[in-house]
Amino acid sequence: MRLFKTRLAQSLVIAIRNLYFHTPSFKPMKNFILCFILLLLANFSMAQNTPLRIIMIGAHPDDCDQDGGGTAILFSKMGHAVKFVSVTNGDAGHQSIGGGMLAKRRMLEAKEAGKRFGVEYEVLDNHDGELLPSLEVRLQVIRKIREWNADIVIAPRPNDYHPDHRYTGVLVQDAAYMVAVPNVAADTPPLKKNPVFLYFQDFFQRPNPFRPDVVIDISSVYQQKIHALDAHESQVYEWLPWIGGYLDQVPKDVAQRESWLATNRAVKIIPEVRTSLEKWYGRDAASKVMHAEAFEICEYGSRPTEEDLKRLFPMLKKAP
Ligand SMILES: [Zn+2]
Repeated sequence: MRLFKTRLAQSLVIAIRNLYFHTPSFKPMKNFILCFILLLLANFSMAQNTPLRIIMIGAHPDDCDQDGGGTAILFSKMGHAVKFVSVTNGDAGHQSIGGGMLAKRRMLEAKEAGKRFGVEYEVLDNHDGELLPSLEVRLQVIRKIREWNADIVIAPRPNDYHPDHRYTGVLVQDAAYMVAVPNVAADTPPLKKNPVFLYFQDFFQRPNPFRPDVVIDISSVYQQKIHALDAHESQVYEWLPWIGGYLDQVPKDVAQRESWLATNRAVKIIPEVRTSLEKWYGRDAASKVMHAEAFEICEYGSRPTEEDLKRLFPMLKKAP
């Protein structure tokens, strides 16, 4: 629908141009009125169709992919703009290679994954495993959110087993509000409005468990998500199985890898997430959801109402 409306607006603009430049019998007043009406229609159509801008920020080049990749695909398919940012270059995430060689490999994997997800992918050049919530990195994060002119920002919670994940959570929280303060990172224009900030789902219980405020049914795009995750070869088939002690389970036959990955990367739908699905999609539809991605609203960004959330997550509009 959104693409249709955008095309309608484009067609109207072309019609106006043709009227002015290619109409042989130019009748000034009549054509002026006609152009004015068409211009109003084009403006109205475009105003209804300003694409949303979503930025997901993870610690490593595969974090956003796993935690928000299905939602990103749905946004992208609806004509919205999604960007993934990895705060570190991933140069520590492998058992047999490291440093610049690994960072380069992971950059290429991230770019390929970005294509498969339909999102822009940027990897910042901070060392993996050494991230700190410094002022320098906070300013990097503020600039990335501003440059993307984000409506929605999604990042990890600051409760996590991995220090890079924890500090990415802190860095993004520290950027919330500051993105609208002109005197901070003054070289990049501030946002006119604090975006809505959300957290990716995790399973840590202390100091408080994750609260699934928004849950997106990603069942229809799950295979595409897996295909995109498959681009992170160094991670999903090498490093994560090695550090997790299940390297022997990775299929030797490349053709069998993606179906193995679909099982390996599946996230269990916990009861709290199922309850939230019922709220957004209705009991019947919720019971059929096979794969979902959940998000918690961060208190430091704009506080969205339920109507705001339906506008910001338009895939929920299909729900009753
Ligand atoms: Zn990570």
